[in-house]
Formats: sequence, structure tokens, C-alpha cells
Amino acid sequence: MATTQNGTGTPELKGKRALVTGGSRGIGAGIVHRLLDAGAEVLTTARSSSGTVPEGASFVAADVRSRRGAEDLAAAAVDVLGGLDILVHNAGGAQPHASATAIPDEEWLDALNLNLLASVRLDSLLAPAMRERGSGVIVHISSAAVPVAFPPFLHYTAAKAALENYSRGLAAELAPAGVRVNTVTPGRVSTPGGEATREQWARLDPTQAGAESLVPLGRDGLPDDIARAVLFLASDQASWVTGSNFVIDGGEFRRG
Ligand code: NAP
Repeated sequence: MATTQNGTGTPELKGKRALVTGGSRGIGAGIVHRLLDAGAEVLTTARSSSGTVPEGASFVAADVRSRRGAEDLAAAAVDVLGGLDILVHNAGGAQPHASATAIPDEEWLDALNLNLLASVRLDSLLAPAMRERGSGVIVHISSAAVPVAFPPFLHYTAAKAALENYSRGLAAELAPAGVRVNTVTPGRVSTPGGEATREQWARLDPTQAGAESLVPLGRDGLPDDIARAVLFLASDQASWVTGSNFVIDGGEFRRG
């Protein structure tokens, strides 16, 4: 079941079945929109739908921080879609703290479960069928804050750093089976979660106010800036791309 080009250079995903975590708002909702527009059948999840799930997508409530939540979601993907071609683990985030050493144990565990282990669990539940079939695409969403390792977010950046490392290794293992694994790494994107987190951070550290001026391309990202990269990676336009990390941040967090 190959994706085809539609003559306009736009990737097409007709006949593809996709699961997107965290699709009720923000970047996840942008990804759901893009995949639906490209013709994919999409199932998305969040802890609650809040009536904001993009029209046309199926929704199942799940908390992906636990093994049980991942298992229920993987089973729902098979029930609702009949199998899976594209898995996008986008749900993520964490609250900032005044000091790295003040991050409570439970929040470390939450951050690791949501930003790292949810991917590990969903992949381990859903990638074997892709491997058996000889095709499939997995995309993990990281954060451009990883190399900066902001102390208030160390639980988050440490989990996302591990996610990037894990993604490269999984890509190497699954490549011979025709399954591609890539990471998309957003910078500062305007989303409900992103704005709320930055407001919290600015309350803890007033020097953070007005940080948008640091984005060289002159604006914060939009969910669709990230969604277009995910669409590319999900499509056959990226058929020779695996183990990559696409940093999409308006030029803010230069790595080197
Ligand atoms: P957001 O606006 O907070 O949306 C997060 C989505 O994930 C919501 O649908 C949320 O719904 C769902 N979610 C959260 N916790 C969940 C859980 N335990 N189980 C299932 N679903 C859950 O976040 P966003 O800003 O779009 O961020 C999306 C991804 O991009 C995250 O991985 C984040 O780390 C990454 N990122 C964002 C930025 C940014 O500036 N926005 C920058 C770098 C990286 P519920 O709350 O109802 O569960």
C-alpha cells in the first residue's frame, strides 16, 4: 500500500491509517488536520476530548503515561483502524520548577512516562505488526530545548533527550524491515500548552518575558509548521529518510 503523489507535489496518504497522540489541541491537532487533508484515516487520543478534536478524526480517551493506557490505545488503534501505517507520538510536556533540584520525584516519573516511555510502549505494541508487514512510519515529537537543558525543565529535556537517542536506535533496528522512524523537534510553537508553560516559567523567572524576540525568523511557530514536517515524514516523499531529527524552530536553538 504505497503512498502516491497527486501531481501537485503534495504528499498523499489515501488508504493509510494513522494514530496521533495528543491530537485534541496544539501541535497534535495540527498534525491530525494535515494527515486528514492528505487522505489518511486518523485516530487520535488525549485524556479528554474537550470537543476540540479535528472533525473527521476518530477519538479515544487514554492517558499514555501508563503501560495500561498505552495497551488500551494500541488495542483501540487495531479495533478502530484495523491496523496501523503511521504512528505519531506527540503528547508531551511538563511543568517548570524554580530549581532543577526542586522537581519532585512524581514529576520526574510523569515526565519520563509521557515524553519517553509512552513512545517506547506504543512502539513496542504497534511496531511488530509494521515490521511483519514490511512497512510503516513512526514519528516522535521532541523539543528544541534539549541541547539547552534549561534547569527548570530538566525532567522534560532529559526525557526528550532520551527519546531522541531511543529513536535513532529504533530506526536502525527497523530500517531493514522497511519501517522508518524519525523525530521532529519543535522550537517555540504557539499552542495552549506551550503558552501556559511559558507563562508559568515567566512567573518563576521574569527574565523569560519577551523571549520571542530570540526567534531569528521573527515569529513563534504555528502547529502547522510542525505538522507539515510530520506529513512529509509520513509520506513516501520521505522514503529514504530514517533515524533523522528535523529541528523546526525558526532558527532559535542552533545545535552544534
Ligand atoms: P498542548 O497544547 O499541551 O497539547 C498536548 C496534547 O497532548 C493535548 O491533546 C493533551 O490533551 C494531550 N496529552 C497531554 N498529556 C497526555 C496524556 N498523559 N495522555 C494522553 N494525552 C495527553 O501541547 P503542544 O504544545 O501542542 O505540544 C505537543 C508536543 O510538542 C509535546 O510533545 C511537546 O513537548 C512538544 N513541543 C512543544 C513546544 C511548544 O512550544 N508548544 C515546543 C517544543 C516541543 P489532554 O490534556 O486532554 O490529555
